[in-house]
Amino acid sequence: MQESSETYKKKYGVTPADADHETLIKMIEDCFKEGLETQLEPFPETDREFSAILDELRGLDADQLRAKLGISGWKLAPHGEDDMRCQECMYYLVHRRWCDLPELNLPAEPEWWCRLWRI
Ligand code: SF4
Repeated sequence: MQESSETYKKKYGVTPADADHETLIKMIEDCFKEGLETQLEPFPETDREFSAILDELRGLDADQLRAKLGISGWKLAPHGEDDMRCQECMYYLVHRRWCDLPELNLPAEPEWWCRLWRI
């Protein structure tokens, strides 16, 4: 799917910026069903690398959902040998099922993950 506010509006009746929790979850899942590949590597090992990814994300607006997922290396499953997942990430609001990292600011399921994962 071409990423534009108009396309989201046509498909969901709303853009990601205005979508509620449930609709955003659906949008995210649909991106992957439509074949979205995200940048799982490299995992940022230093603050500098971590900040560089945040800088990229800051350049996006709230309707650029696919780009956000792509850059952050989003995944709808735990990652790595240690099964890292949102549930244990410091940015995850368990009760809201929400990623509170300002540059992402998206709903997330506890079993999901992205390369900005931190504890
Ligand atoms: S930063 Fe990534 S791993 Fe952490 S809660 Fe957000 S989406 Fe999940």
